[in-house]
Amino acid sequence: MKLTVQVKLCPDETAAAALRDTLHACNRAANHASRRAFATGITSKTGLQRLVYGELKGMGLSAQPAIHVARKTAGAYAALRENLRVGNYGPEGCRRRRAVEGRPVRFRKDAAQPFDDRSLSWQLDAGTVSIWTVHGRTPGIAFQCSPAQLELVTGYRRGESDLVLRGGNWYLYATCDIPDPGVNNPKNGFLGVDLGIVNIATTSDGTVHAGKQLNQVRHRNRRLRKKLQAKGTKSAKRRLRHLAGREARFAADTNHCVSKQIVTEAQRTCRGIALEDLGGIRGRVRLRKPQRVTLHTWSFAQLGAFVAYKAVRAGVVVVHVDPRNTSRGCSACGHIDKNNRPDQATFRCMSCGFAEHADVNAARNIAARGAAGWAVSHAVDDAA
Ligand SMILES: [Zn+2]
Repeated sequence: MKLTVQVKLCPDETAAAALRDTLHACNRAANHASRRAFATGITSKTGLQRLVYGELKGMGLSAQPAIHVARKTAGAYAALRENLRVGNYGPEGCRRRRAVEGRPVRFRKDAAQPFDDRSLSWQLDAGTVSIWTVHGRTPGIAFQCSPAQLELVTGYRRGESDLVLRGGNWYLYATCDIPDPGVNNPKNGFLGVDLGIVNIATTSDGTVHAGKQLNQVRHRNRRLRKKLQAKGTKSAKRRLRHLAGREARFAADTNHCVSKQIVTEAQRTCRGIALEDLGGIRGRVRLRKPQRVTLHTWSFAQLGAFVAYKAVRAGVVVVHVDPRNTSRGCSACGHIDKNNRPDQATFRCMSCGFAEHADVNAARNIAARGAAGWAVSHAVDDAA
């Protein structure tokens, strides 16, 4: 499985200036490549590389960065096509979509740039990297990371790393390819996990991960956002961006903690994890408006993704089950009735009288579906 490890760079002033000039040059080149792609309609990796390689070298890039700029541009067009296809810019012919289709893809001057082993080398013992810049090779840039991250980078780093400027700090996002530890047989069944808004995650064991703090942050930010949006000044826009970043980081931290606890519990008890299949949420594709739904859908998808990758590393099976009626069905007798839910928090079965916390009942249904699905698919395996 592939993981991205973020390593913070600590360049001195000269090195930082060289990195900045390099990003600017690469993105100037990317914008040039993008205009060429737009004008000619050539957006495939090899086609675009052939078209602009010489031109990019003429703009001061060396061979590898020129290739990566061409590929990055081709990748941006592929992402754009996918976004158009799934309707993220609205239906065909609408104004927003026409605007996007009618101009070349643009890159920010500080947009991330990939570096491969020929233009970036790691001195792990010394804790430094040496990187190609437009001012020549810049060696001895110190980096910082946790011991766990260093272990990943040392053992499993493969291929490219992205140079990223974020909030005034420099990072390398290193791709690490970790061997699959193999999957443990879920001999004690499945831990069901219900994802929600009031409670971020509730397990079939009855553990409730409340989202109170996260929701407070969201509500506070929503009020603040309205005010700032009404203002519309440049500084208000900057504050809005800052706010969005902070909220996303807070949500990600929460999702990391919750997913870790869920995976640890499943591993400890030799169970798999069953999640609802939220369907069709693609990793790199922007989600549709409205904002409120986007926020939550995005956060669900992230928690699901965190659970999935932590589970793979821990050898825990994850299954995705059909989400229909998980909250309205009785986990004791199977009776489905919307009157089983007298209010948001309570489940009381109209047929057998079984009563339970509503989210715990849903999680138990999810666990049961996970176990049933696993049994069926493995019976088929055995027969084959
Ligand atoms: Zn019942």
